[in-house]
Amino acid sequence: MKMQEKNISENNFEQCIKCTVCTVYCPVVPVNPLYPGPKQAGPDGERLRLKKGLFFDNTLKYCLNCKRCEVACPSGVRIADIIQSARIKYTTEPPKLRDMILASTDFMGSVTTKVAPVANFALGLKPTKAVMDAVLKVDKHRTFPKYASKTFESWYKKNVKAFQESFNHHVSFFHGCYVNYNYPQLGKDLISVMNALGYGVHLLEKEKCCGTALISNCMIDQAKKNAVNNLESIRKSVYERQMPVIGTSSSCNFTIRDEYPHLLGIDNSDVRDYIELATRFIYRLVEEKKVKMVFKKDYKAKIAYHTPCHMERLGWGIFSTEILRMIPGVELTVLDSNCCGIAGTYGFKKENYEVSQAIGKPLFDQIARLKPDFVACDCETCKWQIEMSTEKEVKNPISILAEALDLIATSEANK
Ligand code: SF4
Ligand code: SF4
Repeated sequence: MKMQEKNISENNFEQCIKCTVCTVYCPVVPVNPLYPGPKQAGPDGERLRLKKGLFFDNTLKYCLNCKRCEVACPSGVRIADIIQSARIKYTTEPPKLRDMILASTDFMGSVTTKVAPVANFALGLKPTKAVMDAVLKVDKHRTFPKYASKTFESWYKKNVKAFQESFNHHVSFFHGCYVNYNYPQLGKDLISVMNALGYGVHLLEKEKCCGTALISNCMIDQAKKNAVNNLESIRKSVYERQMPVIGTSSSCNFTIRDEYPHLLGIDNSDVRDYIELATRFIYRLVEEKKVKMVFKKDYKAKIAYHTPCHMERLGWGIFSTEILRMIPGVELTVLDSNCCGIAGTYGFKKENYEVSQAIGKPLFDQIARLKPDFVACDCETCKWQIEMSTEKEVKNPISILAEALDLIATSEANK
C-alpha cells in the first residue's frame, strides 16, 4: 500500500531558520496590520499550537493561501500549508452563509445557469449589490462573473463528443466550474486547439468542483468528497484509457495536485504526474516535435502576462509564456511578480475588499503603464480581479492560441 503523504506541513516547521524572508514576500503584511505574517502565523505559531490548540489565532483567516511565502522560503518550509492546516484543525467559527454560497460553485452554477439572463441582470444592479453588501457582507464594489445559459458539459455532449474518438491521440479535460458555468468558450477553445493538434478531448466520467474555494472556507468534508470523486474519475481516465488529464485553470491544477495530499490528507501520488496544465502539455508536445503549430500570418497582439500565485508555486508560468512567445506577431511582457489580491473568494468578502485591492494595486498600475492590447493569465479569479480593476480584458493563453493558430493548416500538418 502506498504511503499517504499526509499533512507534510505539520512535520517541517522545524526547518525554519528564522530568516523572515517569507514575511518580506507576503502580500498581506504591508496592507493589513492585523495579520501577524507568515513566520509568526506559520512555523512560530505551530510550535505554540502543538503545545496547546488554544494558542490558535483567528487572524490566520487573513492569509490568502497564495503560497508566495513558500516560493520565497530558503528552507522549504510549507508555511501556507501549516497556516491552512491550523485553520482547518482549530477554527471554531462555522462557515457563514455567505462563505457557503461563495464556495458552493457547483451548486450555485447548476442553479444559476438555468436563469442566467435574469441572474446576470440582477447581480449587476446597484440595489442587489447593496442588499448583498448589507445582508451577506459581499462587498458592493465587486463585479460578479457572468453565468452562461448553457453549461460547457451540455454543449460538449450535444456538439463535439461524438467525433472525439476519431483522433489518434486522446486526453481528458478537467474543465472546472468556471468553464462549465461561466465561460464555456474557453473549453471550446481548448477543444479547437487540441483537435487541430490531433488530440481527441474527453470529459471525466464525473467531475466535481476541485475544492479550492471549499478548502479556503474550511468546508473540508465537502472538499474531501469532491477530491475522492475527482481522483476516482482521474484514475479511470489514466489507467483504463491511458489518457492524461489536462486543465486550463492553474488553481484547479494546483489544488488537485498539491492541496489534496497536503491539506486534505488524500493520497494522489499514483496519478499526480498525469494531471497538468494544457499549456505545459502542449509545450512539451511542440518541444518533442510530436505536433506542429501553424499560425495565422496577420495575427498581432501586444500582451502582458500575469503569473498567478499558484502558477508560481507550480513553477509552470514558463510554459504559458513560452507558448505565447511561439506566436509570431506577439509582443509579450511578463508582468512583475505580484499577487492580484483576489485569492478566490477572499476578495469578495466585505472585510477583505480594501486589502484585496491594495494588494493588487502594483499589478494594476503596471498594466495601466504598459497599455497592452490585453492581459494573459491562466487563472479565472485573477481575470475577474484584473478586469474589474483595470480597463483591460484578460484572456487565457489557450484562447489566445485558438485565435492565433490557423486551425485548418494546423490540422493538416498533424494528420
Ligand atoms: S500564503 Fe500568502 S498571504 Fe498567506 S502567509 Fe504566505 S505569502 Fe502571506
Ligand atoms: S522564509 Fe522560511 S526559513 Fe525564513 S523565516 Fe520564513 S519559514 Fe522560516
